[in-house]
Amino acid sequence: MEEGALSGSAPPRLGGSNPGSGSGALPERRGSRPWASPAAALIGLALLLAAARWIAADPRLQLPCLFHAIVGAPCPLCGGTRALAALAEGRLADAFGFHPLAAAAACAAALRGLWGCARALLGKPTGNLPLRARLKPFLTWRLFVALLLANWLFLLLRGS
Ligand SMILES: [Zn+2]
Repeated sequence: MEEGALSGSAPPRLGGSNPGSGSGALPERRGSRPWASPAAALIGLALLLAAARWIAADPRLQLPCLFHAIVGAPCPLCGGTRALAALAEGRLADAFGFHPLAAAAACAAALRGLWGCARALLGKPTGNLPLRARLKPFLTWRLFVALLLANWLFLLLRGS
């Protein structure tokens, strides 16, 4: 009620409650930066994809898979670097072919980061994705293990 909403005239902007309004006042410093977390996630993901691409391009940087060397079959993580490198190059189908779980996780992280940044730019809360509230009861370590095993089965059947 301090904003003079009942007076019928434009209220004076004293408290800086509308940052970025172009009034010429200094930007408000006391508020949080809702874009920081999703932007940091996007930057982290971009760095991860760039590193994967760099590693995939240089055989000297690639560590041999010990599990694959001993057993002769891919481990649950085999293909993850290649998947992220393919994503970095925009080869979506290749990424999901190399390691579906890594590709899906990276895509989900990218969507989450973009969602958060877009919401922050629109001045809306950057909370969880709407679907996450419904999925939360199912997002357990059992689901993660099941996805990892399903992904590993895919890798074993595909061979490498
Ligand atoms: Zn491996």
